[in-house]
Amino acid sequence: MKSLQQLTRQKALSGLAMPRILPSQSVAARRLWQRNFSATASAAQLAALDASKLTITKTQAPKELTPNKDLVFGKTFTDHMLSIEWTAADGWHTPQIVPYQNLSLDPSTCVFHYAFECFEGMKAYKDKTGGTRLFRPNKNMERLNKSSARIALPTFDGEVLTKLIGEFVKLDDRFIPDARGYSLYLRPTMIGTQKTLGVGPPGSALLFVIASPVGPYYPTGFKAISLEATDYAVRAWPGGVGDKKLGANYAPCILPQLEAASRGFQQNLWLFGEEEYVTEVGTMNLFLAIKNKETGQKELITAPLDGTILEGVTRDSVLSLARERLEPKGWAISERKIRMADVAQAAEEGRLIEVFGAGTAAIVSPVRSISYRGKLVDCGLKADEEAGEIALQMKNWIESIQYGDEAHPWSVVV
Ligand SMILES: *Cc1c(COP(=O)(O)O)cnc(C)c1O
Repeated sequence: MKSLQQLTRQKALSGLAMPRILPSQSVAARRLWQRNFSATASAAQLAALDASKLTITKTQAPKELTPNKDLVFGKTFTDHMLSIEWTAADGWHTPQIVPYQNLSLDPSTCVFHYAFECFEGMKAYKDKTGGTRLFRPNKNMERLNKSSARIALPTFDGEVLTKLIGEFVKLDDRFIPDARGYSLYLRPTMIGTQKTLGVGPPGSALLFVIASPVGPYYPTGFKAISLEATDYAVRAWPGGVGDKKLGANYAPCILPQLEAASRGFQQNLWLFGEEEYVTEVGTMNLFLAIKNKETGQKELITAPLDGTILEGVTRDSVLSLARERLEPKGWAISERKIRMADVAQAAEEGRLIEVFGAGTAAIVSPVRSISYRGKLVDCGLKADEEAGEIALQMKNWIESIQYGDEAHPWSVVV
């Protein structure tokens, strides 16, 4: 069976892309393209990712652990990294765990010019018996494969990469802080490494995973954030790649974030289209709890996965738990579009119960207010309150699964 990546590559090469791009390429670039193409033809012999081949080179200079209280997200890293090369000619090479180190790449490497880069964000947790756990790693593997295939990078067997990540995490186990709210943030990353300025599918790639010990997102308890509803810039659009974790989606969002920050708001709430549909927040999905105007029924709403929304693992977990544990209590759980004007109206009528973001970093992030058309939409928190009931409940439910307090198939011991 051909992998998604092989099919994507074949499609790209047999489609319009080749005749349209090739005439402007140098002879060398053309040869590279042809080599990629013929490599695809013999795809059957490409090596699959193989965890049994893993080699481990331990560091000679173990790092000092950073005290828990000094941990800053993504600032310090563990002793090692997982690194696996891929070439179009051979497929996946030997997986290696090596000391954490710089990469050395030619300045013409395609990742620097055309943003062949995608990534994941996931965490490893210490449970109370000293075991190490991952949370729904299959979801991250699925998503990385989708992101990767979309930018003509290779795909891989997600179970094999999860196994390799497990080995890596076990080796750097001492970096996982043994305290509630703490974890080891894992950053699987894939880049195109072909040396060429030619615009085409990379003939080589590097998949690596680095790990950073992190503390609770809100060290002193929840802190509700304020959002600026952004209508002058668009994060994602139908037919685009906003539903993929591509590095290229993030840099363009920083300027609007600075704009919002200059007016005192922590994040952008991205609105879409003339209808001003609510989509998501910074790097979190958004949930709104609203009381129905006619029936009075409480509804937990998040935007549907229409291609403009990142398929958050936390989003999916909140939805599942809400369907399992809130629906029986009379809640409606909806993946549907909602206009910002309707959210503002619900707030005015006292029907907006609470609003929160959902993502791996904070699990949930309560929202106090949203600036929209020059007015502040009040998201239902009392002045002395930093989180609503549903946000708190979700955080507790999800954390107790992540830390293994509640036995649940989502939590995977490595
Ligand atoms: C990563 C991300 C999320 C959250 O996804 P999780 O899997 O829950 O961490 C939401 N939105 C965007 C834009 C993201 O990049």
